[in-house]
Amino acid sequence: MKTRRDEIAAGLAEVERRISEACEAAGRARREVTLVAVTKTYPASDVGILTELGVRDVAENRDQEAAPKAAECSGLPLTWHFVGQLQTNKARSVVSYAHVIHSVDRLRLAEALSREAVKAGREVVCLVQVALDDDPARGGVAPAGIPPLADAIAEAPGLVLGGVMAVAPLGADPGPAFARLRELSSALRGDHPGATVISAGMSADLADAIAHGATHVRVGTALLGRRKPFVR
Ligand SMILES: *Cc1c(COP(=O)(O)O)cnc(C)c1O
Repeated sequence: MKTRRDEIAAGLAEVERRISEACEAAGRARREVTLVAVTKTYPASDVGILTELGVRDVAENRDQEAAPKAAECSGLPLTWHFVGQLQTNKARSVVSYAHVIHSVDRLRLAEALSREAVKAGREVVCLVQVALDDDPARGGVAPAGIPPLADAIAEAPGLVLGGVMAVAPLGADPGPAFARLRELSSALRGDHPGATVISAGMSADLADAIAHGATHVRVGTALLGRRKPFVR
């Protein structure tokens, strides 16, 4: 009988194959791309299996789910990423377990994260989430807002500016959006040479993202299966 471990191992092998193929096609080394496993809606036991299979980066998008899961997995050698829209009143909780926050899109959030990181004695890597379409519901700062937000993060105690993150616009070819993100990343690195992260690409479009310079791909469905829809 096929176990959950077999299923996840097969998903991981296929995702690894796709990442390697995309790197090769782009003339990039496999080590330039970090696979971040998005474990939202899946149990801590799946995080354990992924860890046994060699995954070292996992991501969640809701604090209510992430906080207990991260606590349950606290003994594992993992880097925790937070990729969801974040309310300032969740800053304290998220900072207590997240090493990298991909979804910083406004000054007030950066200020709250800085305050809580300092209080907790932690250093948190922050990515500026960029809106590549005009849909405010999906989060992200407009491209013109990147420099001031990036400067604020770079200067904030407890925070480290890591780079940029984006989600491709719905229903459009992701290629041009990821190309735009790479340009915005280059401009950002002009002012902040250490901000090298480009977090882009999910299950459906990871190859496009890698072709356009992604350093981190965030993959859920292709590793763990289709998520059950949930109602907030
Ligand atoms: C859920 C999620 C992902 C993973 O999406 P899949 O299509 O399941 O790979 C990536 N990024 C963000 C921000 C997400 O919320």
